[in-house]
Amino acid sequence: MSNLTENYPTSVEMGIDNAEVAVRKEFLEFTEADIALLKELHARLEAQRDPLSEAFYRHLQHFPQLLPLLGNTEKLERLKRTQSAYFSQLTEGEYGSNYVENRLHVGVVHQRVGLTPQWYIGAYRKYLHELMPGVYHLMGGDAEQCIATYSALLKIVFFDMELALDTYFHAEHQAVVREKKFSSQIIADMPSGLVVMDAALNVRMVNKALLSMFDLSSSEACVGLMVSELLGVGEQLISVIENVLECGEMRSGLAFERHVAQGSKYYLADISRAVTEEGQTLLLFMVNDITAYKKAEERAQYLAQFDVLTGLPNRSLLYDRIDYAYMLSRRGDGVVATMLIDLDRFKLINDSLGSALGDELLKQVAVRLSNCLRESDTVGRTGGNEFVMILLSMNAASDATMVAKKVLEVLAAPFQIAGHQLHLTASIGIAVSPGDGENAQELLRSAASALQQSKNDGRNQFCFFQEEMNQRAQHDMQLESGLHRAAENYDFELHYQPKVDLRSGEICGLETLLRWNHPERGRINPVDFIPLLEENGLIVPVGTWVLRTACAQAKAWQSMGIKPCSVAVNLSAVQFHRQDLCEVVQQVLRETGLEAKFLNLEITESIIMKDVDRAVQTLRELKSLGVKLSVDDFGTGHSSLNYLKRFAADELKIDRSFIRDITTDADDAMITRTIIDLAHNLRMRVVAEGVESEAQLAFLLRNNCDEMQGYYYSKPLPVDSCTALLKEGRLLSRAAD
Ligand code: C2E
Ligand code: MG
Ligand code: MG
Repeated sequence: MSNLTENYPTSVEMGIDNAEVAVRKEFLEFTEADIALLKELHARLEAQRDPLSEAFYRHLQHFPQLLPLLGNTEKLERLKRTQSAYFSQLTEGEYGSNYVENRLHVGVVHQRVGLTPQWYIGAYRKYLHELMPGVYHLMGGDAEQCIATYSALLKIVFFDMELALDTYFHAEHQAVVREKKFSSQIIADMPSGLVVMDAALNVRMVNKALLSMFDLSSSEACVGLMVSELLGVGEQLISVIENVLECGEMRSGLAFERHVAQGSKYYLADISRAVTEEGQTLLLFMVNDITAYKKAEERAQYLAQFDVLTGLPNRSLLYDRIDYAYMLSRRGDGVVATMLIDLDRFKLINDSLGSALGDELLKQVAVRLSNCLRESDTVGRTGGNEFVMILLSMNAASDATMVAKKVLEVLAAPFQIAGHQLHLTASIGIAVSPGDGENAQELLRSAASALQQSKNDGRNQFCFFQEEMNQRAQHDMQLESGLHRAAENYDFELHYQPKVDLRSGEICGLETLLRWNHPERGRINPVDFIPLLEENGLIVPVGTWVLRTACAQAKAWQSMGIKPCSVAVNLSAVQFHRQDLCEVVQQVLRETGLEAKFLNLEITESIIMKDVDRAVQTLRELKSLGVKLSVDDFGTGHSSLNYLKRFAADELKIDRSFIRDITTDADDAMITRTIIDLAHNLRMRVVAEGVESEAQLAFLLRNNCDEMQGYYYSKPLPVDSCTALLKEGRLLSRAAD
């Protein structure tokens, strides 16, 4: 007999080798004599084989359970032929490895088609039954021979049945094993972590995903541990697990966190209860690692609240923090300061050296500012070059002074960026609560007003918010909107104030002064609305309108036969620095027909001093048109007598503030005298502004001042009154006369 195990895998799996076959045959007392008897029977049976098979199948067809296996006529015929061959092999006398393999295969096929052993064994009984009379007959009624042959037949049938049953159960076992392997594989490889635990919350099983999710080495090491021990989950989750155990209701979406060396890991779990067939309660804990998702969410949240460049809180977070700080201050938790820090001339650095360098500078500034703070304080960036600090729980508003000084100090140290050494200063506005606002928006607005003040005061300093700033800002806003409307229609008026020659006592000029009536607030002082016109640029069209109207008026007076005198028009800094100033003046003179020598342009000393070289150039150009030039408000600016020579002005107007006190203040008197002498040396005429008293006039006369302007002679007058005064030709009454 050839070697069984090598040829047929089923026999290998089942452990049925040649030795096993030999043992089985021995136990069945299956001998060569039996084989000889069976061979003899085989030869005699051949003729009966088909009727036997027919009888066999007829029997099977009585059972509806078997019909599906027998199939249609065609299949049935095939089966009959196979069956007939099978029966034939039984008595053929060849019971070697081929025979065994064939029988093993039959068992596998039966298991596969669902023919259970009950039918198989019963079918054998039918076969033996059908065969019995035949054997008796074939043995010619020899009882002994008949029993011996029948016994041999029983032995081979039992040998067959053993093999077929073994294989049947083996195949079935294999199917169960395959099924189990399949389920285990799915559990092992599923992407979610799974922990199966018993009612005492002891771990029974974990899958691969769970091991890697919780950095565990092997599932064997996990079995038997308490779930809390295994996963490091807190009491809260354990109580949910216990609840599921008790009520049986599934719970899903349970988030929990686990601390690990690198930070935190985040999980989301579902828990359900299962009861096995044996009535054992199990808990299934299915978990997913959501750390990456959570981190992405945190990043999105971070971006919504923090400035990407500097990593500092952004505007939206700052608003929240200021509101919160305000609430603390309202509860009496000390004073809170909101500090707005604006980097001076940052735009210049950014524009000239590039935004990459500007960004680096902002980052370094952020670091330095952060170092100025206590832990409870906040620094953030609201955008551009503007930072905000929130200082909590201070004893007094003045405590912010220390921080502000420190900020200016730390920013003053040079910054080293990409080989550049950069110097930076900052302007700071401080709002304090309680007091300067009721919420973040108001506090930041107050801080912004204070910041503006710091800038106006020359930058590189800090300024606290004052209520007047607020009122002023509101006032300015209302004025500004009114001004816009007025400027559209030139809804202004001009008044003229006479300048009087001190020697003759006659009017020698008229200063044009702008007047504006606000529809609700009435007459507004020019010192309040002219700076606003300058800020929004409206001074340019309005200034031109003043110039044109004044020149036309001067021309009109001349046409009335009034003795010609010059009109003075004040120029603002904005007008003075415009390229087209000379053109505009020329154009107006042409349009109105006024001779240039009758126009006097007043420019304040401070405008000229801002950029002397450029001013000198402009003054020369104006001078070349033939107009007269006055340096207005002399004494209030730098009063640089050295420069005066270069201005080539015709006239110098001593500011009202000196004249006010010339009779009482020796210094003012002395300064005024010096200015008059100096101006005369430079061949300039001197006008005293704001002369209100006889004593002032007497002083001016004594000191050879050329002209006066002031209430003593006349206030600025509307056109009609001025016309009347000019016509009247009233002389200045001089006490000295
Ligand atoms: P300013 O050019 O120095 O004008 C003289 C100011 O002194 C005028 O004030 C005038 O009313 C006032 N004044 C004259 N005599 C006396 C006096 O005896 N006592 C007192 N207390 N004040 C006197 P006003 O009209 O309020 O103008 C103020 C400033 O507004 C002017 O100072 C000028 O700088 C500016 N301003 C007025 N009109 C214009 C204009 O059309 N254009 C520009 N750019 N500025 C103008
Ligand atoms: Mg003036
Ligand atoms: Mg003046």
